[in-house]
Amino acid sequence: MSKTLFEKIIAREIPAQIVYEDDLVIAFRDINPQAPTHVLLIPKKPISRIAEATPEDHKVLGHLMLKAGEVAEKLGLKQNGFRLVFNNGADAGEAVPHLHCHILGGRKMTWPPG
Ligand code: 5GP
Repeated sequence: MSKTLFEKIIAREIPAQIVYEDDLVIAFRDINPQAPTHVLLIPKKPISRIAEATPEDHKVLGHLMLKAGEVAEKLGLKQNGFRLVFNNGADAGEAVPHLHCHILGGRKMTWPPG
């Protein structure tokens, strides 16, 4: 099976501005930022989307959520707040079939989202 765009970033086949990495996850700046700070945090395991995750993924998904908070803090977003977004499927606007958490901050967000 061919690699997804994000697997190529993990493999350093496509350049990215990496802001955090460990053995389970990697975070890098979004190429088309929707906020002053916009980072994508992804598992290294190629889980397509949250609806395709299985019980055996609970460790990596728990780790990813904890790291989302830590990465947001590292990026200076803790005090004013930030938004985490997982787009799952066509209606949500999912474009890359590799689970990713958008970490957005640095501006006031509105609700409901577009
Ligand atoms: P989705 O729409 O699937 O939730 O989010 C995919 C995200 O990947 C988009 O925000 C898009 O800007 C970002 N993206 C697409 N191609 C690249 C790329 O080559 N490098 C980086 N860093 N981000 C990308």
